Amino acid sequence: RVKEHGRNSARQFVPEMGVTAISRLNMEGAMRRGLERGEFSLHYQPKIDLVTHTVIGAEALVRWHHPQIGLIQPVEFIPLAEETGLILPLGEWVLNEACRQQVIWRNHGLPLLKIAVNMSSRQFRQDDLSERIARIIQDSGADPHQLTLELTESMVMQDVSSTLSALRSLKKLGLSISLDDFGTGYSSLSYLRRFPIDELKIDKSFINDIHVNPDDAAIASAIVAMGLSLGLNVVAEGVEKIEQIQLLKEMHCHQVQGYYFAKPMDAAAFENYLIRYPVKIS
Ligand code: C2E
Ligand code: MG
Ligand code: MG
Ligand code: MG
Repeated sequence: RVKEHGRNSARQFVPEMGVTAISRLNMEGAMRRGLERGEFSLHYQPKIDLVTHTVIGAEALVRWHHPQIGLIQPVEFIPLAEETGLILPLGEWVLNEACRQQVIWRNHGLPLLKIAVNMSSRQFRQDDLSERIARIIQDSGADPHQLTLELTESMVMQDVSSTLSALRSLKKLGLSISLDDFGTGYSSLSYLRRFPIDELKIDKSFINDIHVNPDDAAIASAIVAMGLSLGLNVVAEGVEKIEQIQLLKEMHCHQVQGYYFAKPMDAAAFENYLIRYPVKIS
């Protein structure tokens, strides 16, 4: 399946003359300067429990505010950041920022929420990843038990034995591990069972049409059943319609993320959102 949603949604925000007009080289330089100048920020999208209709966590999603172009979505710069290696300083910034924000929300007296951070493959493959994360957690004063790392299936299947040891050290720090975009890669069930993971996020491409396409509904239902039987949290991503929610409830998939409930918001808007809605502590 081709993942199109990110690109399509990004197009609505990026003026036609925007990112595509910048050459790769300029883009790399602009990104490097953007990191130095503080042009990146995190937006937060709530993760909702369908039984209690409360917020149980948030996914942190990076945004780039370019002084001339305006808001740039991750599909426009994450791939180049990965190619050039800039994903390492960017990923480090994202982790720091998510931890910093967690501490701010704690100090504001907001209920504790798990904040999920996306990892790129290169970042995950760093030999000293868990040491780096341990340092960020220590320096920020964040609670590792309120931090989730989202990894994709293809990422963890690349080198299974090094994945296993990386996951074990991350778990030892107290972090939760989520398998993002689940269903788009091909992970073997035996590894799913062996990896110390906490959560599966069913890719949006399987959720889009569950209410009209019985095949998609069958796949989603099978993933939910498998995830639950392995004792994992199962989250459906990209939920936009009430019909999807009704089906997901029937499948016992009780955790969802999507525009139906809320789009990603900047930290201030997310804080207001949390104040308006009851929050369940996970
Ligand atoms: P993802 O981790 O699968 O994140 C979910 C994406 O789906 C987000 O797009 C989110 O805004 C979007 N989304 C959520 N609900 C809906 C919905 O109901 N409808 C639609 N159409 N879209 C929905 P976003 O923020 O553009 O991020 C795209 C991808 O970029 C992410 O996919 C992730 O792979 C990557 N990304 C974002 N932030 C980071 C980051 O800090 N580090 C790394 N390495 N990757 C990131
Ligand atoms: Mg994600
Ligand atoms: Mg995802
Ligand atoms: Mg996705």
